[in-house]
Amino acid sequence: MFIGAHLSTKDGFGKLPENARKLGLVTYQFFSKNQMQWKGKPINEEEAKLHRENMVKYDIKMPAIHASYLLNLGSPEEDKLKKSYEAFLDEIDRAEKLGVERLVFHPGAHMGSGEKVALDRIVESINDAAESTRGYRTRMLIENTAGQGSVVGYSLEHLSYILDHVSRKERIGFCIDTCHIFQAGYDISHDYDGVMNQIDSQIGLNNVLAFHLNDSKYAFNRHLDRHENLGKGVLSKEFYVQLFGSKKLEKVPCYLETPEGEEGYPKDLEFLRSLGISL
Ligand SMILES: [Zn+2]
Ligand SMILES: [Zn+2]
Repeated sequence: MFIGAHLSTKDGFGKLPENARKLGLVTYQFFSKNQMQWKGKPINEEEAKLHRENMVKYDIKMPAIHASYLLNLGSPEEDKLKKSYEAFLDEIDRAEKLGVERLVFHPGAHMGSGEKVALDRIVESINDAAESTRGYRTRMLIENTAGQGSVVGYSLEHLSYILDHVSRKERIGFCIDTCHIFQAGYDISHDYDGVMNQIDSQIGLNNVLAFHLNDSKYAFNRHLDRHENLGKGVLSKEFYVQLFGSKKLEKVPCYLETPEGEEGYPKDLEFLRSLGISL
C-alpha cells in the first residue's frame, strides 16, 4: 500500500507534497476548507497550480480530499439536503482544481427517516453530481462508517446498494476505514481473509480506491468511531502484516487519521516497521 496520512493545510496546499515527504509519506489526505464550515474561500488558481506541480515534483501517489463533516446527503430535511448537495458539488470542484482525483465523503445519516430512503437520496445526489461535473477526473469515494447514531454506510450491503444504483460507476469508489469496519461488525483483526472476501464480493476490491488506516480504541462491534494510534488499540499485529502483504492492495493509498496527527504519525510508521513492514 502507498502510505499516507491526513495532513494539515496550515502551510498552504502547495506545501503538502513536501510536508508529506518530510514525514516519510508518499501520499496524503487533507481538507480543502474548514471541515466544520459550509463555505470556504475560493481556491486561488496560483496555489492550485503549485499544488499540482509539487504533486509531480515530489512524486505523490494518489492524494485525497476529505469532504466537510457537515454534509448529510441522506438528510430528510429539504434545506439541509440542498445545502449539503451544493457543498458537495463545491468539494468536487475544489478537488478538480487542485488536481486531486479522490474525494472521500461520509454517505450520511437518515435522522429517523429510514435507511433505504436515505440511501436513495445519497444515490440521487451522486448521480446529479456526476451529471453536473461531466468530464471531471475527481471520483467520489464513499467511506464506510462505524454505524454510530443514524448513519448509513456501515454495512457492505449499504455500499453495494449505492454501487448498484449509481449510473456513472466510473465516477465513484470506496474508502474503507479500518477502525470503522471493525466497529461495524467485520472482524478484520481475526478474520482478515474472510472480511476481504466479503468486501470483494459485495463491492469489488477493485472499487476500493483508498483506506483510512486507524486502530480501534474500543473492542469489536460497538459502533464507536474512536481511532487509536496503530498498535495502541485492539487490532491485531497480524492484521497489519496481512494488509500490507496483500498484492492486490499494493497500489492503493492508505491515510492515517490517528490521534495527535502529525505529531503521532512517526510512531505509527515506527510500529509498522517494527512488524517488518517496509514502507
Ligand atoms: Zn471520514
Ligand atoms: Zn472515524
